[in-house]
Amino acid sequence: MNLVVMKFGGTSVEDATAITRTAGIVRGRREQGAHPVVVVSAMAKVTDQLIAASTAAGRGDRAGALAISARLRHRHQDTARALIASEAMRDLGIWIDKKFDSLDEILRGLSALGELTARTSDKVMSLGERLSSRMVAMAFAERGLDGVNVDARRCIITDGQHGRAIPQDALIEKRLREHVLPLLEKGQLPVLGGFMGSNEQGVTTTLGRGGSDFTAALIGGGLNAAAIEIWTDVNGIMTADPRVCPDALRVKAISFEEAAELAYFGAKVLHPATILPAVQKNIPVLVLNSRNPENEGTRITALAPHCRSPFKSIAAKKRLTIIDVVASRMLMSHGYLKAIFDVFDKHKCAIDMVSTSEVSVSVSVDSNEKLPEISADLSKLADVKYEGRKALICMVGEDIRGHNGIAAQVFEAIRHVNVRMISQGASEINMSFMIEEDDVEEAVRSLHAYFFRDPDPVVFDVAARQQRAESVRK
Ligand code: ASP
Ligand code: MG
Repeated sequence: MNLVVMKFGGTSVEDATAITRTAGIVRGRREQGAHPVVVVSAMAKVTDQLIAASTAAGRGDRAGALAISARLRHRHQDTARALIASEAMRDLGIWIDKKFDSLDEILRGLSALGELTARTSDKVMSLGERLSSRMVAMAFAERGLDGVNVDARRCIITDGQHGRAIPQDALIEKRLREHVLPLLEKGQLPVLGGFMGSNEQGVTTTLGRGGSDFTAALIGGGLNAAAIEIWTDVNGIMTADPRVCPDALRVKAISFEEAAELAYFGAKVLHPATILPAVQKNIPVLVLNSRNPENEGTRITALAPHCRSPFKSIAAKKRLTIIDVVASRMLMSHGYLKAIFDVFDKHKCAIDMVSTSEVSVSVSVDSNEKLPEISADLSKLADVKYEGRKALICMVGEDIRGHNGIAAQVFEAIRHVNVRMISQGASEINMSFMIEEDDVEEAVRSLHAYFFRDPDPVVFDVAARQQRAESVRK
């Protein structure tokens, strides 16, 4: 069986138009002979609003919480009505109302108690996916696609850590074989909500924000899918942010490690840690665009094909601050670095980049909130200076390894830009450096022009660039 997990994010199910488009994409796959299992996120922004409702209720703002719920109820009812014309709409409408009635009851309870537990929060947050998956399954059924909603909580069994539950692989595999596989064997189309699961006692849990990709990977891994497709609203991973660099190209194939480095630096296409279970089993993951389904997207695999260019993509992360700690007294005495890092740890501040010399340590961080406290604590150890409005440029590629003199080329390409900190990542597949925020656009464009002059057509979508050039000439 050519089993394909197709995951559709919030924007791919945001309204009736998007859901109808999604049905068309799934139909296309079935006509090619695939047996899809569909995983959906909540409709766009719904999870945020559910969180807003439950936190408002937890603060005692009963009216505010109920108002958010009422808006969500209407949005779901309207979408359902636009999608489903048949008799089935009556039952769906009643079911949606029942879900929102019990949400309202929870919100009233929360505002009376003034306390929101992680367990209740999971229950509330999961509503978005419970609703979207039911609606999508029925919309598919109505369009002749044999859609059947499977409650993901029956399959995605986790531990009890609410908000960040850890999946239990063996149990998940067993449950998928019980609840999903038989449907596929009958030629039906299972539709599951992402993001949610339950512990062994049946209490609802969630996998962390953005967790629907994770669900897709767990299902793909558990059922040994031929591929996992992550449908979003971009054409896959690009060589640079196309808003900064209009000449950016789609990357056709990338390794898991490269995608992971890029995600950390802000390429928000997907969170690779979540697709690890699939990659480990050698199941390819494709990032595809539901607004442009003809596009081949980006294929993420354990090993990427080698290419002529040392880099696959250039990412930038702005709004960073560099903190310079200059050891006047202690120099590099034993335990010094630990003392410095303990300060960041104490203030729960994540560090992006570190560089050290005999007498100083420079650290970059992306949140400014705790700077005064951190700086006060560091001053007890050494002299401290900090400077904001910095940006990190991160160039990623497995093929850096084989290229000599790559650093010289990078700095040649941006010789007019002032570079503050440099690091060649421990993973050996990224080169990062810190520059002034105002120089980012210029630096990315220069680097892109230099390293993607003659892109390898095996890995980059060169045809799209040629087409663009032709349409400009016309
Ligand atoms: N709806 C969830 C969230 O917004 C999960 C997801 O979309 O992947 O975090
Ligand atoms: Mg997402």
